[in-house]
Amino acid sequence: MPDSVSGRLFEAGSSRNAPAALGRDGGSLVLRTDAGAERLPPEGVASVSPALGRTPRRVALADGRVFETKDTDGIDRLFPKARGVLSGARGWTLGALAAATVAIMAATIVFVLPLAASLAAALTPSPVRSLIDSSALSTLRTIGLVEEGEGDPQDLEPQFGEMLRAAGEDPSDYRLIVVEAPRIGPNAFAMPGGTLVVTTDLIELLGRDELVLAVLAHEVGHVTGDHGLQLLYRALGLRAVIDGLTGGAGAGVDVVAENAGALLTLQNTRGFERDADAAAVDLLRRAGRRPEALAEALSLIREDCRACGEDSILSTHPGMEERIEAIRRLAAAPGEDQTAR
Ligand SMILES: [Zn+2]
Repeated sequence: MPDSVSGRLFEAGSSRNAPAALGRDGGSLVLRTDAGAERLPPEGVASVSPALGRTPRRVALADGRVFETKDTDGIDRLFPKARGVLSGARGWTLGALAAATVAIMAATIVFVLPLAASLAAALTPSPVRSLIDSSALSTLRTIGLVEEGEGDPQDLEPQFGEMLRAAGEDPSDYRLIVVEAPRIGPNAFAMPGGTLVVTTDLIELLGRDELVLAVLAHEVGHVTGDHGLQLLYRALGLRAVIDGLTGGAGAGVDVVAENAGALLTLQNTRGFERDADAAAVDLLRRAGRRPEALAEALSLIREDCRACGEDSILSTHPGMEERIEAIRRLAAAPGEDQTAR
């Protein structure tokens, strides 16, 4: 057959199927199976399914059998009339379907994922958190981002514990680790189980313990806000949601997933930074310390990292300028409702 489409033929009302080919021979349809060739009468075809993404095309025969193929172009060639009749409707259907999918995806990302992630984070038991901390830390060591530190030369730990106690927090909820990490530079980060990592470069850059403690107060805010786990769960959930909605097919899906993921992470990161800053101002105040110290610390970090760029991979603290302003406002307005900002 000059133009034949290969696929599978399903028996009537059954999932039993066998390889088959559908083609045209001098104007009439011919169905070929292992059993031989069968010429179909003009009324032998009941319906041809429209093209919808990567969904297989189905040609329903009048006797109940169904020919199925992934060769959507081949079906369009075999049934040009069906294409002509359906093209207008199909264009609209696909457009509407795409719009609906995007709308559902966007709504899920904006409303459902954050709630699901924060619920999942809240339900994660503390042994699991500790496990995440220790495996993350050992990964950082294995890939050489973090080297064995020289301990705690500034004796930060007792001061950190004192600050937490003064603020009414339990120091045993946290573990402070000072590391040498030349490739990370001046930085500090919090892990879900309460492990706070601070680099010797940051201690050196800030100079004063007061400023280092203010940064640690910010990291405590990330732990109490469950930000690390939420980001983790949202990133995992995003992929699952997009796969679920699209059947995991299509190259475009990866592009959507990547861009949505990047956008989501950036947005959340900014939101989480603001939250952690507000929590830090509150903690410092409760501990009888100066909240302005956090703004001063961020200014020093920003000056040092001018060349790093806001979107560099290690820029875990975006929107510095904005944040410093916000912290100064919070610090200058004691007792004001912070959640209103
Ligand atoms: Zn942060």
